Amino acid sequence: MIYLDAAATTPVRREVIEAMFPWLTNNFGNPSSHHELGERAAVALADSRQRIASILGCHAEEIFFTSGGTEADNLIIKGIALARHQADPHLTRIVISAIEHPAVMEAARYLERLHGFTVDKVPVDAQGLVDRTAFEALLENDAVALVSVMYANNEVGTVQDITELTALAHERGIPFHSDCVQAASWLSLDTRMLGVDALSISGHKVGAPKGIGVAYISSNTAFEPLIHGGGQERGGRSGTENVAFAVAMAKAMEMAEQERAGYYWRVSALRDAFIERILCQNPNAILTGHPSKRLPSIASFCFAQSSGESLLLELERKNILSSSGSACAAGSDEPSEVLTALGIAGPLAQTALRFSMSAEVSEAELDVAADEVSAAVVRLNQLANR
Ligand code: PLP
Repeated sequence: MIYLDAAATTPVRREVIEAMFPWLTNNFGNPSSHHELGERAAVALADSRQRIASILGCHAEEIFFTSGGTEADNLIIKGIALARHQADPHLTRIVISAIEHPAVMEAARYLERLHGFTVDKVPVDAQGLVDRTAFEALLENDAVALVSVMYANNEVGTVQDITELTALAHERGIPFHSDCVQAASWLSLDTRMLGVDALSISGHKVGAPKGIGVAYISSNTAFEPLIHGGGQERGGRSGTENVAFAVAMAKAMEMAEQERAGYYWRVSALRDAFIERILCQNPNAILTGHPSKRLPSIASFCFAQSSGESLLLELERKNILSSSGSACAAGSDEPSEVLTALGIAGPLAQTALRFSMSAEVSEAELDVAADEVSAAVVRLNQLANR
């Protein structure tokens, strides 16, 4: 199998399984229990939190474990917006980019539907970069409670200049959140460099299990918790902590941090060669997203006059797994909001395919995949012309 769907999910790394195993078996204690078994779990949890904080360049108290990227996005968007609105009822607007993941879009829509907020979407250019002029114009409104712009897009891989955008929000005293789910393991998430007040990460995109995520929320940024109960995570997210998965998250993030310098340029070069091969072999193929400001791991195209879903199935018959969009939008007939925002609408948007690579991808795999894509495009065109 050639797995080119790493943006959807990644396998749990062996070292990560080994690191978390004791916390699922012998050391199964509840970190809130006042006996030795519980205290051991509490120490492991605190240690994982501290290790993640070191990677993000922040304090351990600013790390909140969640059930994944979606929950981290929800906690941050709803939690910060509601807390700021509570403190100052005049704050009723949220600014997000037009290409956010549904976890951000729907959290913002919820605030619009039930809490009287207005959501402003900043347009992006044809390559997926946030329109700076439009962004600044939206920030002029003094009712903006929060800004959220993703670091790297999950469908086309475009990477935003978060440091620059954060500075623009901070000039107006507005807190800035960035969904870093796709950026994690490819780009540094040092919060001092990015300047963000909050960011979200998901375990299963970085070699940890599904069902764990991290919300970084700066200690200067107040937020309302969404889940109430026993007051775990310093009251920010109640519920017995998933110690084993927190240990897994710390291990996976540490491994990515240590290894990134080694694989970043290797995968970037392989991605570029793959893109070139696809574009050379397929005159109808169009690269989507930014040509250079993109994740090393994502190559996304529209294959004009083909069907993304049919191509996906043809490739799967050859044991090559890719995606016709984001995993969440896959199978939906609705045109992708991301591609629509990039100006790719109607039938062309239905021809999209995303290939997303892991750090282990090989040149041989990508060569085979590129040739199979071209062969599948020819086969489908012949069928259509019959
Ligand atoms: N944000 C982005 C950019 C994503 O790509 C995803 C998952 O695909 C999420 C958020 C949601 O993360 P999770 O699957 O952990 O809920």
